[in-house]
Amino acid sequence: MQTNFTTAQLADPHVQESEKILRKCVHCGFCTATCPTYVTLGNELDSPRGRIYLIKDMLENGRPADKEIVTHIDRCLSCLACMTTCPSGVNYMHLVDHARVHIEKTYRRPLMNRLTRGVLAAVLPYPKRFRAALKLARLGRPFANVFDRVPALKPFAAMLRLAPATVPAQSATASPGSHAAQGARLGRVAILTGCAQPVLEPGINEATVSLLTRLGIEVVVPRGEGCCGALVHHMGREEAALASARQNVDAWTREIGNGSLDAIVITASGCGTTIKDYGFMLRLDPAYAEKAARVSALAKDVTEYLATLDLPEPARKPGLTVAYHSACSMQHGQKITRQPKDLLARAGFVVREPREGHLCCGSAGTYNIMQPEISARLRDRKVRNIEATGASLVATGNIGCITQIASAAKLPVVHTVKLLDWAYGGDKPAGLE
Ligand code: SF4
Ligand code: SF4
Repeated sequence: MQTNFTTAQLADPHVQESEKILRKCVHCGFCTATCPTYVTLGNELDSPRGRIYLIKDMLENGRPADKEIVTHIDRCLSCLACMTTCPSGVNYMHLVDHARVHIEKTYRRPLMNRLTRGVLAAVLPYPKRFRAALKLARLGRPFANVFDRVPALKPFAAMLRLAPATVPAQSATASPGSHAAQGARLGRVAILTGCAQPVLEPGINEATVSLLTRLGIEVVVPRGEGCCGALVHHMGREEAALASARQNVDAWTREIGNGSLDAIVITASGCGTTIKDYGFMLRLDPAYAEKAARVSALAKDVTEYLATLDLPEPARKPGLTVAYHSACSMQHGQKITRQPKDLLARAGFVVREPREGHLCCGSAGTYNIMQPEISARLRDRKVRNIEATGASLVATGNIGCITQIASAAKLPVVHTVKLLDWAYGGDKPAGLE
């Protein structure tokens, strides 16, 4: 694609990067076929190619974002299916990230939209606030239908519906410390605690620690780590996202200095995609560029890390048929497609893959709150495809997908690592009785 940026515009490294990306796009439109919003809405402006044109126009003309571009960029799930499909290697992720920062800096959103985004950014990344908010949401749930009648309040209705009926107790694996390897130590990893996941489903990291330590891996929960920053990053709040990234880079760099670290294990693929991008996000910060690149190189999804280990025979072969839902951040963001299915099959599960596996379930961070209608259509489509497999449960590697699919599916939805932990001698995941 030909671009027309001025030399002065190209002095900005962010514009320079976007220009490089834009020039790779050959307008072929292959990406439209796998874009969930294009498939759902049928509008070219809700396709990757359409959004690329809108972004190009906005950046080239150096103009503030307007309602039209904000509408179509807000509808993008950042699922990155377009990047998997694109034959020209267009890095849509970095382009849309830049566009979101530009929107955040130049567009004044309507009051309720600003308020909702502000609440999400102030609550979700902080486990204590999130836990308190979930408890409050239980009281507010009866009002969800009332909120639904006012368009600007629909996100609050979606929030209330997504809140679980009970909030699990805090887990020891969410506190800083070290979990020793059982028997001879074969490796040492740090684990990301994260923000929303330990509140909604502490059992995921508990199962990870239980499995890894049984396999001879010491698991460290570093002091000072926090939210990966994905949530604010996808809102275009660059400074907040970079502050989270720096905090985590500091925490893990200290840990790297305390002894060798084989990997930074991540059990939520949405966070994994962002952490693997820290090297890029902090490339312009001389104090952090190198450390961030080292952290990104060490970041591994838990299944990616498990696949590098010499696993014993499973303690039991459950024989259950599992529909494996590959989160977008897993398959498109991190290109991890084979390892989770291979590990499940090796552990004795019969793995089925739902049709249209490339399409997003509609969770996408806070998308199911901010865009509840499109999100619900994608969720229902995903659940139909999952249920058509005839499986007796769903396995996936991202807390957002678990919450989203479980809100409509009749089958239990379980994190992949909990099934693996069970097969290799751990506890049976709750809900499989
Ligand atoms: S990230 Fe997903 S929703 Fe956004 S343009 Fe690409 S395929 Fe479409
Ligand atoms: S598939 Fe790639 S090159 Fe083709 S229109 Fe989409 S982004 Fe551009």
